[in-house]
Amino acid sequence: MYRGRNLNVEFSMSRQTILISGAGIAGTTLAYWLLKRGFEPVLIERAPRFREGGYIIDFWSVGFDVAERMGLIPELRKVGYFIDRVEFVAADGGKRSAIGGNVLARALGERFLSILRGDLAHAIYRTIEDHVETIFGDSITAIHQDARSVEVTFERGQPRVFDLIVGADGLRSAVRAALFGAHRQFDRYLGYYAASFVTPRYPRRDEHTYLSYAAPGRQISRYALREDHSAFLFVFRSPHRIPELARDTAAQKQILRQIFSRDPWIEWPEIQKRLDACDDLYFDAVSQIVLPAWSQGRTVLLGDAAYCPSLLAGEGTAFAMAGAYILAWELDRAGAGHAGAFAAYERSFRPFLERKQKSARAFASSFAPKTSFGLWVRDQVLRLSAIPVMGDYLMRRFLADRFVLPD
Ligand SMILES: Cc1cc2nc3c(=O)[nH]c(=O)nc-3n(C[C@H](O)[C@H](O)[C@H](O)COP(=O)(O)OP(=O)(O)OC[C@H]3O[C@@H](n4cnc5c(N)ncnc54)[C@H](O)[C@@H]3O)c2cc1C
Repeated sequence: MYRGRNLNVEFSMSRQTILISGAGIAGTTLAYWLLKRGFEPVLIERAPRFREGGYIIDFWSVGFDVAERMGLIPELRKVGYFIDRVEFVAADGGKRSAIGGNVLARALGERFLSILRGDLAHAIYRTIEDHVETIFGDSITAIHQDARSVEVTFERGQPRVFDLIVGADGLRSAVRAALFGAHRQFDRYLGYYAASFVTPRYPRRDEHTYLSYAAPGRQISRYALREDHSAFLFVFRSPHRIPELARDTAAQKQILRQIFSRDPWIEWPEIQKRLDACDDLYFDAVSQIVLPAWSQGRTVLLGDAAYCPSLLAGEGTAFAMAGAYILAWELDRAGAGHAGAFAAYERSFRPFLERKQKSARAFASSFAPKTSFGLWVRDQVLRLSAIPVMGDYLMRRFLADRFVLPD
């Protein structure tokens, strides 16, 4: 038996070798549960080292349940944040509408936290890093599978043979591309772009408050982090994709400048300075992944690679972790029968994910309202939510439809 370094978890000896592409939320969670169930996972991550930081996410629902079963909650509370208030402000900084966190706390009890995406992934990874081979700075280029095994070729490393492959490599999965073809055919664009960065010593801090300025079709939010850092999230509508933006950070910054300089927020000049100086900008279209099948032969997809619900669902990390838990559970139940396990994983989880993708699409029109009237309506809904009975009703509607994990 091995013993996990931080979490006092016992792992049994290995059976099948499983290559997991992507050491993000889904990949690390799957490696944890595969180890626990006696498999031998290997992680391959394109980034040269473990990816830290990133954007802030809300973490609750079924992801919280999985993290609890991994004994991770005390660590996540330590590195995470507690958002106590959601507030919208006008261009001059004056308050438009707000709700206190007690509305969320009443609906979710203590089962809610906010955390940087990279900090969540790292907290999971720390529990397994001494027990899992992790290859950084490389990526799968081709997959050749037959009835007995899978041969994988890499950008840098020598070809290797595994029993199974899992693509947990995010929205633009290389495994999905190798298996099913170009990204574009499976990407459902939802009409928005999102961008995010973290900056030090921003002069305004509203502790424990998720504060946003919204104008028709666009929104900037900020949240104060530890060590005097602040995270910013930008969202703007675009009826069409802007193809020339892919991978060109200068062009991405330019478009943010153009869009957010119109009727600017009083804080915009300072934010713009930070944006110009930042060297780790996240920028991408907001889209979902819709696939006809989640597996083929000895290869299966997981997390955003298989069923990205988009940031509008607010639960992508939860679904990545729950999918990993279910996949490991089904593989364990099926013994050597991976085909049955892949089918059972998809059968049990796909209908739930399709419902969640559908509600994220329905929510899209009110996410960054197109008109001033739309913004006014949203303010009214937020004000109503602050009234306890109404708030409880709206939260219950929003939070309904939980997935129950197998025991
Ligand atoms: C701005 C924003 C805000 C969000 N807010 C929330 C929120 O509030 N709550 C929530 O639950 N979810 C939120 N999400 C969604 C959430 O981040 C994702 O659903 C979740 O991270 C999916 O996990 P994953 O492991 O599938 O993918 P990722 O976390 O993206 O991990 C994929 C990993 O694969 C690696 N990789 C990529 N390509 C390759 C390759 N070719 N080879 C090897 N490795 C590769 C990447 O470097 C990364 O480490 C948000 C997303 C965005 C963009």
